[in-house]
Amino acid sequence: MDLDLTGRHALVCGASEGIGRAVAHELALMGADVTVLARRADALAEVADGLPRHGAQRHGWLAADVAATDALRAAVEALAAARPVHILVNNTGGPPGGPASTATAAAYLDAFNRHLIANHTLLQSVLPGMRSAAWGRVVNIVSTSVREPIPNLGVSNTVRGAVASWAKTLSRELAADGITVNNVLPGYTQTRRLEQIIDDRARAGGQDVQAVAEAMRASVPARRFAQPQEIAAVVAFLCSPAAAYVNGVSLPVDGGRMQSI
Ligand code: NAD
Repeated sequence: MDLDLTGRHALVCGASEGIGRAVAHELALMGADVTVLARRADALAEVADGLPRHGAQRHGWLAADVAATDALRAAVEALAAARPVHILVNNTGGPPGGPASTATAAAYLDAFNRHLIANHTLLQSVLPGMRSAAWGRVVNIVSTSVREPIPNLGVSNTVRGAVASWAKTLSRELAADGITVNNVLPGYTQTRRLEQIIDDRARAGGQDVQAVAEAMRASVPARRFAQPQEIAAVVAFLCSPAAAYVNGVSLPVDGGRMQSI
């Protein structure tokens, strides 16, 4: 199986910690030159320094806020002009919790901006490079809520569905250019985001944090949370040459938690 990414340049967003950081590590192990993007330069420099490196592999970092669309576009266009990007991993922090019915219009707009509009801005900035290479991989880290909305994540559920539809549409538009577009839907994954969700649920229900975490683990057939590396391995496969004919899918990596087929 061809998993070799030597000579490919990957831009991994939300990579200062959690799933994004684990993805950057996997892609570097497969030989890619990796640029990690998030807001904090100091954290990014540390991540980029720690990435596996063999031979001529060059890693870097780009400090940018995905919510600041114009600055994001300028920064990523400059990056891609200096060094075309062949692999784009769209990923950022999830929207705050709460019911869909009481969320403000501003909360919806903010989430669309950080997810759909940011992904689109990033895609447009790197697409010319992918097209000239006649090779590209776009993987969006979304959520199982694309298929089964999660209670009390109203804004998140809504924007995830929009991202999944955007990606499916793109996958059909870009396939003839040798570019695939896929979504990975993580289940409960041991990161700061999950800790925040558990804390929120415990506070909202007046429950103990440990009890909430235990109930969530019990809802997973595998009876445990994923490690970020387990999500990253699937993302990395979708970025590989071997995955060339996998396009337009939304792939859950959730220990079997979803009920739908
Ligand atoms: P995380 O909070 O651990 O990491 C998020 C990353 O995005 C960090 O590097 C953070 O610095 C970066 N980021 C946040 N806001 C940013 C901004 N405005 N601009 C640039 N970078 C920004 O999250 P995670 O658990 O790794 O999750 C990644 C994605 O997967 C999120 O969208 C999350 O909602 C989703 N997800 C996570 C889980 C889970 O259980 N962890 C489950 C399903 C879906």
